[in-house]
Amino acid sequence: MSFTQRILLSMLAGIVVGIALNASAGALPGVNAFLVDGLFYVVGGIFLALLRLMVVPLVFVSLVCGVNAMGDLKTFGRVGAKTVGLFLATTAVAVTVGLSMALVVSPGAGFELEGDFAEVVPREMPPLADTFINIFPENLFQAMADGQMLQIIVFALLFGFAANLAGERAGSVVRFFRDLNEVILKMVMFVIELAPIGLFALLARTFASQGWEIFIPLAGYFLLLAGTLLAYLLVAYSLVLRAFGLNALRFLARMRAPMTFAFSTASSAATIPVTLNALMRRLGVPNSIASFTVPLGATINMDGTAIMQGIATVFIANVYGVDLVLADFLVIILLSTLASIGTAAVPSAGLITLTMVLTQVGVPVEGIALIFGIDRLLDMMRTAVNVTGDGVTACVVAHSEGVLGVLAGKGRAGTDPRGSGQRPMSPASESKSGSESES
Ligand code: ASP
Repeated sequence: MSFTQRILLSMLAGIVVGIALNASAGALPGVNAFLVDGLFYVVGGIFLALLRLMVVPLVFVSLVCGVNAMGDLKTFGRVGAKTVGLFLATTAVAVTVGLSMALVVSPGAGFELEGDFAEVVPREMPPLADTFINIFPENLFQAMADGQMLQIIVFALLFGFAANLAGERAGSVVRFFRDLNEVILKMVMFVIELAPIGLFALLARTFASQGWEIFIPLAGYFLLLAGTLLAYLLVAYSLVLRAFGLNALRFLARMRAPMTFAFSTASSAATIPVTLNALMRRLGVPNSIASFTVPLGATINMDGTAIMQGIATVFIANVYGVDLVLADFLVIILLSTLASIGTAAVPSAGLITLTMVLTQVGVPVEGIALIFGIDRLLDMMRTAVNVTGDGVTACVVAHSEGVLGVLAGKGRAGTDPRGSGQRPMSPASESKSGSESES
């Protein structure tokens, strides 16, 4: 069996076992407790810890190598501007699509509000000035310990450019980072090899703890959001890729590992190692671009989250009978785009920043309690969309720079990710980074 087949089979088995355990929870409480809160919890927890363990060293080291490969500030400025521009544009389109679908279907109209719901405390919007200051780390180790991705990115960029400026005198430092990158990529491969077991345990536990009755009253909201996420993933991204002359089917097929990891972990951050691996080794995005776009995208680019926020806002407004006017929709588009930037790349974070959007348009934040119970499954789906969006941007930016390998039909994806860190970025030197060997 190929690696992909093993992963898909283990995910399917995890879902089936989870549903079976959920159904038999009353009859076999002992077995359930041993498996769900014992074995699956431990195995899934270890797998997640290993994935997260790789994130900070991988992002830091591969970004230093990437900056070294990029060479000058001008190239970086151009790549950075394209990346952030595409992130913002796709997110704004995503929330607009979500809102439009919600307006057509009008979920939540006629919904009977009954029962006690958990109390939701609205989240204060942090002052904008502090948000900017907080991008810059005061203490590298603190930033790493807290997994502050933007701060780590800033330090790695400064470090990488300083090493470039130091030229030959920093030669041994640069070589050290390239070799370290090799070692860390190998470690990532080890962890990815464990995926069939890890993903099985994560999914079995999630589905075993998911009570199905709660979905029934919210079926309208659930199906609308799930359908819109799927349509956005398949249609919108395909259109973007095609607009740039790239093969969308090939892209989706080769992004399946990050999508399945994102789905199973519901965390874009934990998926970073797998996304980087797929982009560099299977799609031919050079390290210099992937190492920058992927961690940045995991942190600030969340198209799936933006779609959820658009639909959830209309749903809750309908339930509480709040009329939204055109100006509100514009506010929702703007705020959901900003909120998705501020959403942490971890499970359920999108619901926390949703409070910001609801507060601004006068929709009761208590409404979040309604959708909280069924959010896990939707979170898994929107995280897969979030991660795919990062991949689309990385490919489009690399293509526009003339350095995209395999997906642009330029031979094999590079065989050695280190190769992409060795020279300043140029079409000839970088289009062959990564290899197709995975799965
Ligand atoms: N779980 C999502 C992610 O990590 C964030 C969200 O809750 O929307 O990408």
